[in-house]
Amino acid sequence: MDGGSHESDVLSLFRERGQLSRTDVIALSGLSRTTVNHRLSTLTASGLLVPVEGGESTGGRPSSRFDFSARRAVILCADIGATGFTVAACDLSGAPLADAERTIDVWSGPEAVLSLVLEAFRAIDTGDEVWGIAVGVPGPVEFAAHRVVNPPIMTGWDRFDIAAWFAPHYDAPVLVENDANARAVAEARVHRLDNVIALKLGTGIGAGLVFNGQIIRGDKGAAGDIGHTRATIVDSEPRECRCGSFDCVEAYAGGWAIERELREVGIPAAGARDIVELVRNGDIETVRRVRAAGRVVGDAIADLVSILNPRVIALSGMLAECDENLMSGIRERVYQRATPLVTRDLTIARSTLGEHAGVIGLAYIVSDEVLRPSSLDRILARTTVRV
Ligand SMILES: [Zn+2]
Repeated sequence: MDGGSHESDVLSLFRERGQLSRTDVIALSGLSRTTVNHRLSTLTASGLLVPVEGGESTGGRPSSRFDFSARRAVILCADIGATGFTVAACDLSGAPLADAERTIDVWSGPEAVLSLVLEAFRAIDTGDEVWGIAVGVPGPVEFAAHRVVNPPIMTGWDRFDIAAWFAPHYDAPVLVENDANARAVAEARVHRLDNVIALKLGTGIGAGLVFNGQIIRGDKGAAGDIGHTRATIVDSEPRECRCGSFDCVEAYAGGWAIERELREVGIPAAGARDIVELVRNGDIETVRRVRAAGRVVGDAIADLVSILNPRVIALSGMLAECDENLMSGIRERVYQRATPLVTRDLTIARSTLGEHAGVIGLAYIVSDEVLRPSSLDRILARTTVRV
């Protein structure tokens, strides 16, 4: 049985639970003392585990308590939105060590945007080894291929090879993920939740679904794209969506659509940030539209909530800063339509992680990837110094 185990199994125990003694590892893993000793010494030699001072160890015996050394390396994460991105160097437990934000226009295409991301990565260099790169994008991602596919808003990004673009700059795996998925992972892992829906409400609208602790990607990775599902309440005049279809949820509740409506009544708004500002200043027209947008989003997710039964719906993205004005509409519709048992312990709230949710989630996803058996073997082969 010991033969089927791997260093990554032992490492997972520390990543989930924090400090453990040698005896704890034997009890939790069911492995023999000899195997546990071997695993612990390999992981300690690689720097992924560190002996803890003041543990049970006495009188010159080797330390018998260890901890996961999340600072062993960093993951560079870029959470790209339609009008800006956040980059962060995160440790292997997802904690951001250094971060920066930039304003961009995602329509300027992948090369222009990724050049700015690279520049920002260099500006936040912590001097640590880089074990992975993660790029979150506001569009559908074919996860296995690490590519954005047919993004409704990201002109020029369709099937662009993001990993190949980074290859000359970093000798590390590159992962591409949908931004809302990354946010859902962050909520689940930071708050230790198994069942979460993350709603990103910005220029566009997206949802990330984590259930039973796993991202629900669907067959190709496109699950959760609620922005282009059909809105329940529609005007008599069909509203054109930027994806080319009509009456999508986004065409009523996306930042760009609210902006379009405000312009039609003579209120100049350029971007989600302006909408938030108008709401904060109590502009009645804007408040009315944001509340209506909340109801459209609430309708769009109510059935999803009944089907999947999340514990938490976490809102992020620029429009989430409209707080209650947006949230009341979402709550109203979800509580009205979803079944009582489903809504009994349901929390619908703004993410406590703020705009770091994306980069934190990306760091978790990449850490899982680089610390799984096959990739960990490569790291151990490279870093373990045998004596
Ligand atoms: Zn659409």
